[in-house]
Amino acid sequence: QLSRRGLLFGTAGLAAVSLAGCGAGEDTKQLSGFTGISMPTTTSDRWVLEGADLEKRLKDLGYKTILENGEDDIPTQVSQIQSMIDQGVEFLIIAAIGNTSLGEVLSKAKDKGVTIISYDRLILETPDVDYYASFNNYQVGVLQAKHIISRLGITETSTEKFNIELFSGSTDDNNSQHFFQGGLDTLEPYIYGGSVVIPSNQTELEPTSTDKWSRDVARDRMAGLLEEFYQDQPLHAVLSPYDGISRGIVEALVAADFEPGSDDFPVITGQDAELRSLKAIKEGTGQTETVFKDTRLLAEVAVDMVKSIVEGSTPDVNDLGTYDNGFKFIPSYLLDPVDVTAENYKEVVVASGYATEEAIDNAP
Ligand code: BGC
Repeated sequence: QLSRRGLLFGTAGLAAVSLAGCGAGEDTKQLSGFTGISMPTTTSDRWVLEGADLEKRLKDLGYKTILENGEDDIPTQVSQIQSMIDQGVEFLIIAAIGNTSLGEVLSKAKDKGVTIISYDRLILETPDVDYYASFNNYQVGVLQAKHIISRLGITETSTEKFNIELFSGSTDDNNSQHFFQGGLDTLEPYIYGGSVVIPSNQTELEPTSTDKWSRDVARDRMAGLLEEFYQDQPLHAVLSPYDGISRGIVEALVAADFEPGSDDFPVITGQDAELRSLKAIKEGTGQTETVFKDTRLLAEVAVDMVKSIVEGSTPDVNDLGTYDNGFKFIPSYLLDPVDVTAENYKEVVVASGYATEEAIDNAP
């Protein structure tokens, strides 16, 4: 389970794509592996861990690195990337803040022969992305919706009606639509069958979105929904795309006198296996699920891409036809997300060494 799975495609057939972007160009200049790592924010645990993990893995290979965090501000990320280019990086590993905001700076990188790896979030509307390292993002939403269905025991022929509200992520992050679509497609037969009802009728990406994945934005939207639609009917579940958002939702519910752990506390999903959320899952005091994406494996994939190119070969990818960035399908390596609940967190998250029981217990 900890090893990278999936079918590996050789990239021989991609030579035109990958060589064009490999940074070596036609000259034979030896690459040193110098890599700029551009992470989006420190408000979400995963990016902090991954920035450090990527840096360590690259340094262990003897490559120089620059690590920056954009703190959710697009101009900051653009200028950090520009400075990396000015300092002579040969590779960029970028988790973008705004998925369409990097075209100009990436074209400058490309002029200098830099190889660009879009990390976790796909960078759109530029021809200059060479590779994409991520997870099966649609599957994340599928797992979240399946959790709701199984926790509530909903069947297509249920006569009971279950009220559910939907949250999506930040609309400037390409992943949001994939998470949301996976969730919606999975819930759809139950919505059409009448067993699942969305009282707010908010089922599109825009009204359900959570700008910058912010916990406060989610809390305020949930408070508004409770006020408007749930004065006299139960709320059975909330589809939430990310642990920080889930905790904002819980905060609004608690403020409206819902009692975590009680029978009428809604089923709430999440993503990223953040310590505070694992604690709530373990203790039954909030959300009931998270989707674990083993970011150690993702860091390994991205670093392997750099290493392959430095060593003169083409990186392994396992998907050529899912992620179109508006210019082309980006050769991708996609990993599998895993559903985590109170029943399996020990096996998936603790036994794999991602988090210790102690760290979970001591989460704030
Ligand atoms: C990532 C998620 C993360 C979210 C907020 C998304 O692009 O794929 O893992 O929860 O950003 O940081």
